Amino acid sequence: MNRKMFVAGNWKMNLSLNDGEKLCEEIKASLAELEFDNKVDVVLFPPFVHLDRLHQKLDSTGIKIGAQNIHHEKSGAYTGEISADMIHSCGAAYCLVGHSERRIYQAESDTQLLAKVNLLLANNIQPIFCLGESLADRESGQEKPVIAKQLSALFKLDKNDITKLILAYEPVWAIGTGKTATVDQAQAMHAFIREEFSKQFGEAAAEKCTILYGGSCKPENAKDLFQMKDVDGGLIGGASLKADSFVDIVKAAL
Ligand code: PEP
Repeated sequence: MNRKMFVAGNWKMNLSLNDGEKLCEEIKASLAELEFDNKVDVVLFPPFVHLDRLHQKLDSTGIKIGAQNIHHEKSGAYTGEISADMIHSCGAAYCLVGHSERRIYQAESDTQLLAKVNLLLANNIQPIFCLGESLADRESGQEKPVIAKQLSALFKLDKNDITKLILAYEPVWAIGTGKTATVDQAQAMHAFIREEFSKQFGEAAAEKCTILYGGSCKPENAKDLFQMKDVDGGLIGGASLKADSFVDIVKAAL
C-alpha cells in the first residue's frame, strides 16, 4: 500500500513568537520551491501561543499546523489548560497525544490519553498518538509488551475513528539523545505496531495507518529511515528548529 509520507516538526517549549515566525517564514520560503504537498504532508507543532499567527502565515502554502497537547476535559475550571476546541479555533488540524515527555513529566494515564483522542476527533483534529519504550524496557527485552500496552489504550475507540489516527513510534532512549534507532530496529517496531493494530482493527485499517518514526531523526539518517517499508515519515524534535535541517528532512521524504 502506498501511504503518503508525513513530516512533522515538534518545536516543544522553544522559540519566542518572533523567532517562531522567522523559522516559519524560512521553512515556507524553502518549501515553496518544492512540489511537496502531493507527496508529503508537512505539519509544524509550535507552542500554543504561536498557533493562530502561524496558521495565518501558512494559509494556502500546503503546510499545516498542529498543537503539542490538549487537556483531557472539554472545558471548565482547569486554570492554565487548553482545550480541543480552543486549538481548533486557532487553526490546528493535528495534535500530539501522549508524547513521552508528557507521559513522564505529567504522568498522563491511558484513560486521559483516550479522552484526549476522543475530544480531538469530536473537533475534527487528527491525533498523532505517540508510543515509545524506555532504555530500561529495551535493555530488558520488554520493548514489545510495553508498546503493545501503550497501543491498547486505543482499543476502546470506535472502528470508524481508528482510521483517523496517526501513530508515532518514538523510543524514549532516542529522543534528544543523538542516538537514533537503527533502520532495522525502527522497521521491526513499526511492523510490530502495524501487526498489533491489524489484530485489533483489521488488516485494511492497519495498512492505511500512517506510522511515524521519532528520535534523533536528522538529515543524515532520514532517507534511510524513510525507505523502510513500515516507516511513513518522521516526528522531528531538535532538527525541526532549524529551517535547513527540517527542509532537508522533508526532501528526504519526497
Ligand atoms: C520528539 O521529541 O518528538 C523528538 C523526536 O525529538 P528529537 O528529534 O529531538 O529526538
